[in-house]
Amino acid sequence: MIENLVRPNILNLKPYSSARDEFKGKASVWLDANESPVVLPGVQTGMNRYPEPLQPELKEKISRIKGVPANRIFIGNGSDEAVDLLFRVFCEPGRDKALVFPPTYGMYGVCAAVNDVQVIESLLDEQFSINLKEIGKKTMENPKLTFICNPNNPTGNVQSHETIRRIIEASKGIVVVDEAYVDFCPEQSVLSWIEQYHNLVVLQTLSKAWGLAGARIGLAFASPEIISVLNRVKFPYNIGKPSIELASAALDQEQEIKERVGEIINQRNLLMNSLSAFTFVEKIFPSSANFLLVKFRESEKIYQYLAGKGIIVRDRSKQPGCKGCLRITVGTQTENKTLLKALKELENKQQ
Ligand SMILES: *Cc1c(COP(=O)(O)O)cnc(C)c1O
Repeated sequence: MIENLVRPNILNLKPYSSARDEFKGKASVWLDANESPVVLPGVQTGMNRYPEPLQPELKEKISRIKGVPANRIFIGNGSDEAVDLLFRVFCEPGRDKALVFPPTYGMYGVCAAVNDVQVIESLLDEQFSINLKEIGKKTMENPKLTFICNPNNPTGNVQSHETIRRIIEASKGIVVVDEAYVDFCPEQSVLSWIEQYHNLVVLQTLSKAWGLAGARIGLAFASPEIISVLNRVKFPYNIGKPSIELASAALDQEQEIKERVGEIINQRNLLMNSLSAFTFVEKIFPSSANFLLVKFRESEKIYQYLAGKGIIVRDRSKQPGCKGCLRITVGTQTENKTLLKALKELENKQQ
């Protein structure tokens, strides 16, 4: 089934076989990988050795937390790696297409362009919901990949499970549900659907709620067949040892992360209330994530003013349907207060 979607050159690929692939047992003298026999002073022991190519221990931990068998888990150098691999595995350059729902995460389009894959767009409606009436027409173009970002970046809203299900069922290609922000609304996850739908890939990441953007750990969940093709194409040692260790330590603190997520949601609601009182705020879009999309009167001026105060937000005003919009990440209570204070000063000046 999945074989019909994979590019023939990838199906026929003989993957690179690393030293760690070829000998996995216990030994005391390792002379097989041209590593240094010693570490530099001050460097953690073991760093002279290559990491595990398939991160089995980390996958066991993720498996326990997510309730997904380890053979359905791929770990990437950020979920961006998984996005790029999906293009390289499934999309024939210059011929295949991908469907996206703008305004959305920019990396789908960038990876499509890098791989010479044409992007079909179906714009979100005024509420930033997927336009179901267009789905039939768009899936007729047979996109190999369809990206649903849920919650969506930069809008912060979620698509209904009903909508996601309709798209998966209408699609002859692979449907990717990017759940980078789903830790902030776990009930929205469709992770358990991977058992039922063999064309579904769910992406998650440790970059947002888990506080490890610097470690670059992205997760893809799918059928064992899809995971195995991703593994064949990825770089042999795609996750560094320090990142594996950081991820492992973070995953041991699930409870702590849940509490922090709760705090961020509280802060988001406070920020939303406070922002809505400003005269120059026209609209705040509902958010299920750790950021708010805010429509300002004269957003460019607001952006520049805040930047002048050392407060950087993301200008999304050029995105379709996002005229005048800035995306504001929810920070610590102190950071949010600093932002609100700066805006208050501006408002007072203007009056
Ligand atoms: C931040 C983000 C990611 C995460 O990318 P990583 O490579 O895992 O850091 C993925 N998708 C969306 C929509 C994001 O906003």
